[in-house]
Amino acid sequence: MICICDAHCDTISEIYEKNLSLPSNDGMLDLERMPQGIQIFAAFIDKKNIKCTPMNYCIKLIKKYHDEIGKNSERISECLSYADAERVIRDGGRGSILSVEGGEALEGNIAALDMYYSLGVRLITLTWNYANELADGITEARSGGLTDFGREAVARMNELGIIVDVSHLSERGFWDVMEATSKPVAASHSNAKALCPHRRNLTDEQIAALIKNRGFIGINFCPAFLDKNLADLDMRGEDYAAHIREDMSGAESVISHIEYMFSLGAEENVGLGSDFDGIAGAFSDLCGCEKTVCLIEKIRERMSPDAAERVSHGNFMRFLSETWI
Ligand SMILES: [Zn+2]
Repeated sequence: MICICDAHCDTISEIYEKNLSLPSNDGMLDLERMPQGIQIFAAFIDKKNIKCTPMNYCIKLIKKYHDEIGKNSERISECLSYADAERVIRDGGRGSILSVEGGEALEGNIAALDMYYSLGVRLITLTWNYANELADGITEARSGGLTDFGREAVARMNELGIIVDVSHLSERGFWDVMEATSKPVAASHSNAKALCPHRRNLTDEQIAALIKNRGFIGINFCPAFLDKNLADLDMRGEDYAAHIREDMSGAESVISHIEYMFSLGAEENVGLGSDFDGIAGAFSDLCGCEKTVCLIEKIRERMSPDAAERVSHGNFMRFLSETWI
C-alpha cells in the first residue's frame, strides 16, 4: 500500500469559511478520499481578507482543526512527535499535522510561538505573499529580508521543534533564514523556477542551499507553478485556470519538476506539497487528494520504486526525524 505524506493543504481554511466538514466535502480533500499517510493542514491567514486580527482568526481555524480531528479520531490521528508520525506510517493509518501559514499570527509576540506549539502547531510558514512582522513575502517589491523579530522567531522555532517554512518568503528573506537557522527548513509547497519561472518557485541556487541544509521541498500541484505558459498568465494577473486544457497532464509536469530537482542532487529532499484547496484551478489528473496515489504509481514506472518511496513519504519522514524534538 502506498503511504503519502503531503506537506501542505488549505483544507482547514476552506471548510471553516464554507462551514463544511473534514469527513466528506466537495473540495479537494476529505477523509473519504484521503490516502494512507500524513497530511499537514495549514491554518492559512490572508490578512487582507479577514475581519478580525490575525491571531484571533488563526485561533478560530485551529479550533476548527481540533474539532474535526477530535470528532474523527478513529479515522485520523494527530501527529505531535516523530514517534506519532512513525506509528502512522508503520500501521498504514492516517495522520494530521497542524501548521500556520502566515507569521502575522504571532502579532509580533515571541511568546505566541510557545502558545501555538502547545496547541499542536509543528510548522510555520513565515510569511504568506505580503510583509509581516517577521519578513517580506514574495509579492513585496522591496523584497525585505528577516527583521530582528523574524530572526528571534527562527531561533525560538528551532528550539521548540517548529519547522521553519520558506515557501512564499521573499528571496532576501530566504537567504537570511538559511543563515539564521540551526535546523533543516522546508519549502513546503514550491517548485523549480528553471522549469516554470513563477515568482513562487525556487531558483537553482535556493534548491542547492536546501539540499545543503538537509531541508525538504514539497512539489506544489498548482498548474501556474508547474507550467510555464500558465505561470506567465498568472504573473500577468490573468485567470490561468481558464487556460487549463483537459489533455494537459499534471502528473507528467510534477514528474519533470521532481526529475529536475533530483538532477540537482535533491534525491533526499523532494516530496509533496499539493496545496489542495489553496489553488484556483487544477489539472484533471491532480484535482483531488485521491489522485495522488496514481501520481506515485507513475513516478514508480517512470523513475524508479526507490524514487516513488522517497517522494511519497521517505524524504518527508527523514526530514521530520531531523527537525522535530
Ligand atoms: Zn501557500
